[in-house]
Amino acid sequence: MTDKTKKKKWDYSDIAKWGPGKHEMGATIPESGTADDYETGGWRTERPIRDMEKCTSCMICFFGCPDSSIIVKEGKMQQEFDLKHCKGCGICAQVCPRDAIEMMNEIKVCKLEEK
Ligand code: SF4
Ligand code: SF4
Repeated sequence: MTDKTKKKKWDYSDIAKWGPGKHEMGATIPESGTADDYETGGWRTERPIRDMEKCTSCMICFFGCPDSSIIVKEGKMQQEFDLKHCKGCGICAQVCPRDAIEMMNEIKVCKLEEK
């Protein structure tokens, strides 16, 4: 859960006005451990869909996911993913030994959900 009251360690409120000289080489990362504060799933083009009948809750996809987007409750895989952070990389589908995860086109899934 995002804590909007969390004090920032580094004031970057005027970051939009920064010129090239103020940014670090490569990237500006003002503080670590902020991934949970941002919704980074917006650029996903493919969405993982889990077939619960095939899934054995072996957890292999959980350890493979780089975005901690696999949801486990009481040792059991949940059908839904954390779509605010899942970037659709497909690693979970690749590592699943049961072929229980299928990557589907995000736009098609959204359209199906609208119906
Ligand atoms: S790797 Fe496959 S079988 Fe194992 S928990 Fe993930 S979806 Fe289920
Ligand atoms: S597609 Fe990638 S980011 Fe999304 S749940 Fe699977 S491994 Fe994690």
